[in-house]
Amino acid sequence: MRAVDLIIKKRDGGELTQAEIGFLIDGFACGDVPDYQMAAWAMAVMLRGMTAAETLDLTLAMAHSGEVIDLKGVVPVAVDKHSTGGVGDKTTLVVEPVVAACGLPVGKMSGRGLGFSGGTLDKMESIPGFRSDLSQEAFVAQLKQVGLVLAGQTADLAPADGKLYALRDVTGTVPSIPLIASSVMSKKLAGGAQAIVLDVKVGRGAFMATVDEAGQLARRMVEIGRRAGRRMVALISDMNQPLGYAVGNALEVREAIETLHGRGPADFREHCLHIAAHMLVLGRKAENLRAARQAARRALDGGSAWSKFRALVEAQGGEVRSVDEPDRLPQAAFVLTVPSPGSGRVRLVDARVVGEAVVALGGGRSKKGDAIDYGVGIVVHRKVGERVAKGEPLFTVHARSRAERDAAVERGLEAFRLTHRQVEPLPLFYRTIRG
Ligand code: URA
Repeated sequence: MRAVDLIIKKRDGGELTQAEIGFLIDGFACGDVPDYQMAAWAMAVMLRGMTAAETLDLTLAMAHSGEVIDLKGVVPVAVDKHSTGGVGDKTTLVVEPVVAACGLPVGKMSGRGLGFSGGTLDKMESIPGFRSDLSQEAFVAQLKQVGLVLAGQTADLAPADGKLYALRDVTGTVPSIPLIASSVMSKKLAGGAQAIVLDVKVGRGAFMATVDEAGQLARRMVEIGRRAGRRMVALISDMNQPLGYAVGNALEVREAIETLHGRGPADFREHCLHIAAHMLVLGRKAENLRAARQAARRALDGGSAWSKFRALVEAQGGEVRSVDEPDRLPQAAFVLTVPSPGSGRVRLVDARVVGEAVVALGGGRSKKGDAIDYGVGIVVHRKVGERVAKGEPLFTVHARSRAERDAAVERGLEAFRLTHRQVEPLPLFYRTIRG
């Protein structure tokens, strides 16, 4: 077999066999297939697509390119969630403690932010001392003892996906349904999850622009999981505007802490309760969504989810005082609240523009390995459908220099659109797709 023949076959719209996909992925993982051939093949897939059978074969080949964790003897049901990436998406910080507090252990391998979308690990690492580079043994031990782990993906877990994702990021081949589906699901299968809730984002701050595209991606992932014997639900959620108010690592941790204390933004709290409820049903801790929501609400309002979060921070070396007193979390030197230039109803808070502005402030990376400033970010004060009067606070910029603050103010103003017409609030979820 030759890699060039497989590139040509895909370029011309052919369907690759399981053996051909295995050849490419194994060869790429061990270095026999060079980056330039893999990049050419990824572009052929981006343009020609893949059948459901090819996508499943690609997922399994990437999942088995490294270690596959077996959590069967460790917890009764290994339940996990995965978001396809968004702006202000701090859901994991709240949902995982809620679910763990309801008696369902959660061990999650999370990622870092790249581009305009944030990453859970970067948010958690804004807590001084918090470590996410856990060995597999430490991961399993903490899952047993605390019932909650938030770690980074080890180099041994689906390494072919890690290499391919890095290539896709710089070759314009990220927004491909089969490539995203196989990337997400290979990590989930290798990580030992038996029940998986997928949060598939759609809109300005997501990789999928329309609900139909997001539905196709969701169905592909659900089908892969089902065929691999996993229990699956995918929720298509809005990412046209930031989730909650805060965007930026330490600012989002503060907002998650507020929510864990039973407060926090209403949209974000509702989003978390809905995802947690699906996890509890899929993990067979609750009979139906209504009972699951009640349990999740009790965990949030009664303080048990907050106690789990504290225990997680402590177990992974984080400074508990910083989450008890969030003023101790990293803060930016230059903070400015921007008044609304006009009156009306908010028609748009463009999540992508806000996400890009936060990256430019130093809160995200332009390329892998860039250092992050945890204290910077943007807090929006109005969401779509809300009224604002001229001069009322529209958003607040947290910056490390005056020049970066002023640039973020400009960008922030571009993110907002006001109108004098009636505007409905955006829905939180559009569709549910079950396995
Ligand atoms: N998240 C992933 O893990 N992979 C993708 O391709 C896109 C989002």
